[in-house]
Amino acid sequence: MRIAIDIDSTLHHYWDRLSDAALRRFGIDLPYEEQLDWGITRLRPDQLRICIEETHCSQAILAGEPYPDAAAIVSRWRDEGHFIHITSHRGGEALEATAAWLAQIGVPYDDLHCSEDKVARCVELGIDLLIDDSPLNLARAIENGILVATISHPWNRDLCEEEDVICARDWRGLAEQLDPLLARRARVRP
Ligand SMILES: [Mg+2]
Repeated sequence: MRIAIDIDSTLHHYWDRLSDAALRRFGIDLPYEEQLDWGITRLRPDQLRICIEETHCSQAILAGEPYPDAAAIVSRWRDEGHFIHITSHRGGEALEATAAWLAQIGVPYDDLHCSEDKVARCVELGIDLLIDDSPLNLARAIENGILVATISHPWNRDLCEEEDVICARDWRGLAEQLDPLLARRARVRP
């Protein structure tokens, strides 16, 4: 199978980084449990941009703590012959640090892409399964006939209830649901 995997809030817990930056720089609290949709309206667009830039600098990227089991599961999937595409909204300038971080935490991949339009890249690569926390990306992927899965977060709860999204609290839960599908649709790279 050809699998696309997002980074922020999928391979590591990004929200605390962002909310720490918002609090420190602007005194604005962004409680995780209250973030029920994709829009971050408590910050002005320029404030949000500054917080994202800060959390996507090389130092911050390299300090990312992966979710338990994430690296081992992705690594196993690749060993089993699945194609792994790592995809992120991070800017192109974050590519090098992101590649170094993936090597540091032991996530192997066949393709790494930083861009605003993740789903277009997934379509280009013939991706079968997208794992991403963004409800916008998940909905667009569904429209394009791509199977979707996510780590459960407050902002994708509604979509997970309404649409056909494989949703789990953690990577172990994701693997339990996805392994049978992957076994049925095993596909040798590339
Ligand atoms: Mg994400």
